[in-house]
Amino acid sequence: MIWLIFLENALLISDQQHLPANPTEFGLLIEESHEIGEWRGISCLVAEVQQPLPTLPTGWSFQSLRSLMPVLQAEMFQWASKGFQILQWAKNHRFCGRCGGRTDTKINERAKICSKCGFIQYPRLSPAVIMRIRKGKEILLSRSPHFKEGMYSIQAGFVEVGETLEEAVKREIFEETHLEIKNIRYFGSQSWPFPHSLMVGFTADYLKGELAVQKPELEDARWFRRTDKLPQLPPRLSIARQLIEDFLKI
Ligand SMILES: [Zn+2]
Repeated sequence: MIWLIFLENALLISDQQHLPANPTEFGLLIEESHEIGEWRGISCLVAEVQQPLPTLPTGWSFQSLRSLMPVLQAEMFQWASKGFQILQWAKNHRFCGRCGGRTDTKINERAKICSKCGFIQYPRLSPAVIMRIRKGKEILLSRSPHFKEGMYSIQAGFVEVGETLEEAVKREIFEETHLEIKNIRYFGSQSWPFPHSLMVGFTADYLKGELAVQKPELEDARWFRRTDKLPQLPPRLSIARQLIEDFLKI
């Protein structure tokens, strides 16, 4: 058995990137756990622990999921991200949104069912689009005010109710930069656990308009050539980084 043990948004992991097989050996008190499936043939559970914590064995610590993104193997990060999202969903859906009754875990399905009215709640997934805009030999990179200092990325935003993914791509770019785009093409997707998104990646080409950074969504936006000195980019496992790398290698 493998355990994903979270303390808020931080995962218990060893310096060698091992996960615990038995949290009771660490003196950790587990009140509620959730099965998340089999990883490499081994059952995997996720649970949360609270402060105060016992002293952990040498080489073990809680590391924030975000800080693990640049260092973990892609498969392990994806697994940890799945566990984190299931845990958050279970915590946030203890009661029925319709009648306020207590919910139970539904058998044979990842869902919560209301013990009073039978209303079923499934894990929440919020689709977001992320897009790489290209103008000839240049790529549009921008900064959001909440990015860490010096980092630039491509643009992204949540899909609104009633909108197609392509409409969301066009709207987000126009809202943030006043640019119009064309040739919107699907690139790939990524589960994104901050907090419960599915990032859908696209590429597109500049069509028309003058670049005009719209605050407060963006702090800065600029066109960069491959040969320019690039600013600090997003972590390597992120789909944002993959889209940028894809441009750099063309
Ligand atoms: Zn109910």
